Amino acid sequence: MSIDEIKKLINDYGLKPSKGKGQNFLIDDNVLAKIMATADLSPEDYVLEIGPGFGVLTQELIKTGKKVLSVELDTRLVFYIKRKFKGVSNWELLEGDILKIKNEQLAEKLGSKKYKLVANLPYAITKPILQKFLSYDPKPREMVILVQKEVAEKIVAKPGEMSILAISVQYYGQPQLINIVSKESFFPVPKVDSAILQIVLRQTDIPAEFSQIFTQIQIQNYQEKRFWQLVKIGFSSPRKQLQNNLANGLKITNAEVKNRLEKAGLQELCRAQDLSLLDWGNIYQQFIA
Ligand code: SAH
Repeated sequence: MSIDEIKKLINDYGLKPSKGKGQNFLIDDNVLAKIMATADLSPEDYVLEIGPGFGVLTQELIKTGKKVLSVELDTRLVFYIKRKFKGVSNWELLEGDILKIKNEQLAEKLGSKKYKLVANLPYAITKPILQKFLSYDPKPREMVILVQKEVAEKIVAKPGEMSILAISVQYYGQPQLINIVSKESFFPVPKVDSAILQIVLRQTDIPAEFSQIFTQIQIQNYQEKRFWQLVKIGFSSPRKQLQNNLANGLKITNAEVKNRLEKAGLQELCRAQDLSLLDWGNIYQQFIA
C-alpha cells in the first residue's frame, strides 16, 4: 500500500496511530517482498500474524494459499480488516491481545503445531512476544519479524557484546539479521530504523552446544530453571567480573569460583558479556550439574 492509501485509511477510519500499540504501517513493497522471501513458506506451513493493521502483509500471506491466522487488538482495524478479507477461506482473524492468548489455542486454531510466525511487530511488546513464542509450547518453527534495529543487533550479538536478551534468543533458536529497514518504510515514521529478523527455533530439548559437552546423565538431570538462574546471577552486575557475580550470587568463595571457571575453560577476568552460549553450558556443567 502506498503512503497516500494508508493516510486515507487512517483518516477514513478515524484512527489516531497509537505509539503504545506500535501502529507504524508498512508502506515499502521491497520490505514486504523481503519478508515473504525470508519466510519462504512451504506447503506444510501455517502462519500466525500478529497485528495485521490494514492488512498489507496479511494480503501477501493469504496469496500464498497457506492457512493464515491474524491476531489484532484494535477494534477499528478489526472492523476494516474483517471487511477487506471477508470470504477468504484460508484466513481467520482472532480479536484480542496476543499476549493474553495461549499458544495452545493459537496452534489449535491453525490446525497445526508446526507454524511460522510472520509479523511487523508492535515494538512496545517485542520482548514479551519473544518470550511467549520462544519459551512456551507449542512454539512456532520459525519467526520472521520486523523489530527495532537495535533490538535485532542486540539479539544477534557475539561474545563481547552479549546480554541476557541475546543468550535467551540464541538459547532457543538461531537468529539472523536479514536486512536493515529504514524508518521511512513506515507511516507514521517511527523514531528509529528497523530490521527483518529471522529466528529458526531448535526442535531439540537442549541447545546443540550443550549436548556436545554434557554427559548423558547431565542431559537427563538438566534443569532449565537453574540455567536461567545462573545466567541472571552472571549478569547481575554487568560491569563486574563474572567471578564476583558468581561468588556473590552462589555464595561460594572466589577461589572456588576461579577454580571452576578454569575448568570451564574461561579466563578468570571475563565478564558475562564475553560469554557464548557454549561457555554458559560449560559454566552450568561446573557450577550446577
Ligand atoms: N502489519 C501491519 C501493521 C503493523 S503495526 C503493517 O505492517 O502495516 C502493529 C499492529 O499490531 C497494529 O495493527 C496494532 O493495532 C497491533 N497490535 C498492537 N498490540 C497488539 C497486541 N497486544 N495484540 C495484537 N495486536 C496488537
